[in-house]
Amino acid sequence: METVEAQVVSNGKKRKKIPPRELRIKMYNDVHKLRKQGLSYTKIRKKIYRKYGVWIPLSTISRWLRGESSPYNGRRIPSLGLLKPSEDLANVIGVRLGDGYTSEKSHDYIIGLKAKDKEFVEDFGRRLGNVLGRKPIRPQKEAEKYVAEARSKTLYELLRKPVDLKRIKKYVEHCKKCTAAFLRGLFDSEGRVSKNGYITLYNTNYELLVYAQKLLRKRFGIESTGPWPHVQKGTTIYNPRTGKQYKAKNDCYYIYIRAESLPKFYRYIGFTVRRKQKRLEEYLRRY
Ligand SMILES: [Zn+2]
Repeated sequence: METVEAQVVSNGKKRKKIPPRELRIKMYNDVHKLRKQGLSYTKIRKKIYRKYGVWIPLSTISRWLRGESSPYNGRRIPSLGLLKPSEDLANVIGVRLGDGYTSEKSHDYIIGLKAKDKEFVEDFGRRLGNVLGRKPIRPQKEAEKYVAEARSKTLYELLRKPVDLKRIKKYVEHCKKCTAAFLRGLFDSEGRVSKNGYITLYNTNYELLVYAQKLLRKRFGIESTGPWPHVQKGTTIYNPRTGKQYKAKNDCYYIYIRAESLPKFYRYIGFTVRRKQKRLEEYLRRY
């Protein structure tokens, strides 16, 4: 979260006060305009004071101009009411219910995705950027994985855990395209395609799986079975990739897409993750 400690002069006494966001946005826009006209930081500061009666610290002007902070940060969409349904938003919601995360650290509200498939994280970063009216968020490499994250208090409020299915409904069910984008995000995260082409979707949230099944069936005529229990809480699991054992923190369930529905799944939903999409295509070519 951005902090502008502007010095507001009142009653001859200087006190630290953060001006309201609307005012900061106006000043921010003026700062950029004035800089374009070639004014120095000190001159910009004086002009802003004359117009708004607020002394902005030079460090803030410099951060704004270098793009390191902005009053838009975290609140470019000031409230949930202003968040518009779109395929991009529906997809971001789907990913969030899968591999994505939200976190809050000292008033920093973060939405992000960390995964090993670059194209998946790239797509998420582009969509997240679109939702927030920003440029695509480029994935950063972290060890064997890619990360894309952004700050937004509004999105954080919608997507923090536990995610309220009732609250996301209007975005997910906005239209057929939005529903497909939501399911794609979910399956890119938590879906598995076996070597012989069968698709399963795993999650610890039983209600979410039932909801996904309903959407698949009602909107696209895609039939699935389950939710079946996969791993019970407390079960020791061996991860062959890391060679480590761990205890399952929650019960886990899965649904299974019926083989005869796979062509429809491919046609309407599909995967962004290339290795999953490839396996599905190979299966469909064979049958
Ligand atoms: Zn829509």
